[in-house]
Amino acid sequence: MISIKNVSKWYGDFQVLTDCSTEVQKGEVVVVCGPSGSGKSTLIKCVNGLEGFQQGTITVDGISVGDPKTNLPKLRSRVGMVFQHFELFPHLTITENLALAQIKVLGRSKDAAIDKGLKLLDRVGLKAHAHKHPGQLSGGQQQRVAIARALAMDPIAMLFDEPTSALDPEMINEVLDVMVELAKEGMTMMCVTHEMGFARKVANRVIFMDRGQIIEDAKKDEFFGSPRSERAQAFLSKIL
Ligand code: ADP
Ligand code: MG
Repeated sequence: MISIKNVSKWYGDFQVLTDCSTEVQKGEVVVVCGPSGSGKSTLIKCVNGLEGFQQGTITVDGISVGDPKTNLPKLRSRVGMVFQHFELFPHLTITENLALAQIKVLGRSKDAAIDKGLKLLDRVGLKAHAHKHPGQLSGGQQQRVAIARALAMDPIAMLFDEPTSALDPEMINEVLDVMVELAKEGMTMMCVTHEMGFARKVANRVIFMDRGQIIEDAKKDEFFGSPRSERAQAFLSKIL
């Protein structure tokens, strides 16, 4: 579903990604971890074309992200992205937040978009909050809305960038629970997260990045059992 081949990227003189390659199969859950500044966010932003890159190729469902002929807005609408900060529209209600892109990007009717939005809101346990504005919800609730909003676009894959790291500890699990459900339903997911409990539960593979490189790309059990690189070992010993 997602193929990343020999991707390198520079910000000016600074090389932020060095020869990164990996693949995410349909239905696979891949967790990306590594120290702050190692290029995790940059890599997943490259996957849906939010960042460009100078070398290598990335394809999503066979569509080349770096090809200037590719319709990036269309591709992006098919790849859900959930960030650390929820980025809901503060002036719109939850229902409106869920319906907007369905109407504007997918051309759905208002009724169909609202109907779909409410179903997904129910699925993340927030149907009673449909009429509220984001500011009236907790961080964990807002992040669940953000996930529902991404799902409303019928994504072929979901990208998460530290979706729980801005949340108070008591709210982390309510968001992880939604992600675990998604994973179990077979969603293709690439998740930057340091929640190793989540990784142990649902990840097929774990990628460890350091200084712009993929240092380790291993099946979950191999990664947790015996990470090959010293840097991954040191990282794991710090966060576990
Ligand atoms: P991570 O998500 O692993 O913390 P990032 O992908 O955000 O890492 O950043 C990787 C490196 O690239 C960091 O050193 C960061 O300072 C640098 N960086 C990120 N965005 C930019 C930018 N727009 N311009 C210049 N440097 C950047
Ligand atoms: Mg980051």
